[in-house]
Amino acid sequence: MAGQYPENIIEIFEDFFFIQRGFLNCNHFVYRGDPPILIDTGYLGGLEETVSLIAGLGVDPANTGLIINTHCHCDHIGANRFIQDMSGCESALQYIGKHFIDTRDDWATWSRYYNQEAEFFETTYGLEDGQTLDIGPYRFEVLYTPGHSADGIVLYNRREKILLSSDTLWENDVAAITERVEGSRTLFSFIESLNRLQNLDVRMVYPGHGRPFNDFKGALEKSLDKIRKYLWDKEKLGNDQLKKILVYTLLMRRKIGKDELFEELMRTWWYPETVDFYFQGKYEQKYTQVIGELLDKKVIYKQDDLLYPAVRA
Ligand SMILES: [Zn+2]
Repeated sequence: MAGQYPENIIEIFEDFFFIQRGFLNCNHFVYRGDPPILIDTGYLGGLEETVSLIAGLGVDPANTGLIINTHCHCDHIGANRFIQDMSGCESALQYIGKHFIDTRDDWATWSRYYNQEAEFFETTYGLEDGQTLDIGPYRFEVLYTPGHSADGIVLYNRREKILLSSDTLWENDVAAITERVEGSRTLFSFIESLNRLQNLDVRMVYPGHGRPFNDFKGALEKSLDKIRKYLWDKEKLGNDQLKKILVYTLLMRRKIGKDELFEELMRTWWYPETVDFYFQGKYEQKYTQVIGELLDKKVIYKQDDLLYPAVRA
């Protein structure tokens, strides 16, 4: 029934819901069945809202039977531990991501590298490329799509031509690429993953961040174009990475002084390394430049000497 749910919630199939969040938390999915199944769980800092959104669909998180994660980054696994503690639910993710979680590898999951909050959880199943997942009556194919992360998957419902694209495919942008963690193959992996998706017949894409969209081929073209440019222009890649992670850091902190943020960045792994790697170690100069660009573009704003994100968390 139209109008039954808030505007950020779409019932894709009967009892299968898409929940669109801001940029701090990933979008996630709830299957209201017996038992309920969740796909991704947002960021730890958004836990309360995540749980209340799930409960708002008539699903008691304590009854969750299974959590599926599209990859093990902090904004996708945030409520896993909490929901698992209350429900004892099983969990499934791509087998490399499962290994990262099982070995408590917070470098491979990016959380130590980017100073992000994340809690490990217990895993049950390692997913393989090409296998199928039955979520209640709905069948999804698991496609392994590394590039943004070593364990990235997308879920494809062939019957209804629906793609849950996670951070592999966004409408107008490409998710953060971290060569220093993922290695020198990562841009090529990303291109191969997107090329592989070209063969799918897709009517609607539900991405990991941002609104759903139907121009699947257009989004693929835009993403491929951007990543191919990165191959030849590493400064552009470095700048985009700095901007994305800076905005994400502000979303995590909510507000912070300009100098304080710089000092905090210098104590992370990622910031000095990224500036060393792409910009010959010009830490302060690069910081001033990137903050200036973000202020100009109104992605962040300044008030009483504090910086704030202008995008919705
Ligand atoms: Zn991610």
